[in-house]
Amino acid sequence: MPDNSDFNTSISYFKEEIDKFVEERGWSKFHTPKNLVQALNCEAGELSQLLLFEDYLPEDIKKDKKLYQKISDELADVLIYLISFSNSLDIDVTKSFIQKMVKNRKKYSTVEFNNGNYYKK
Ligand SMILES: [Mg+2]
Repeated sequence: MPDNSDFNTSISYFKEEIDKFVEERGWSKFHTPKNLVQALNCEAGELSQLLLFEDYLPEDIKKDKKLYQKISDELADVLIYLISFSNSLDIDVTKSFIQKMVKNRKKYSTVEFNNGNYYKK
C-alpha cells in the first residue's frame, strides 16, 4: 500500500486509480452519470446513517475506533463515487472547486457573514 496522505496526493491519483479499478472489472458500461450520482447519494446516506439520532462530539467519534473506521470507510465510498462521477463527465475537480469557491466568497462575503451569523443582511 502506498504511503499516501492528504498532504502528498493529487486528485489525479484518485481519478486514475478509480478509472483503472472500474476498467479492470468491466464496469464502465454501468458508470453512467445517473447511476453514479445515485450511488453517491446512497453512500452519503450510509455515512449519514452512522450519525443518525446521535449527538456525538468530534472527540467522541475520534475515541470510538470502530465508529471512526466505519465513518472513514463511508467517506471513502462517497469520495470514490464523487470522483467516478467527475470521470464520467470529464469534469476537472480542481477547476470546479476553484470556480465554486470564487462564487461562494462572493455569495457569502465576510462583511455579511461573520460572528456565526449565517443570515444575509
Ligand atoms: Mg458504503
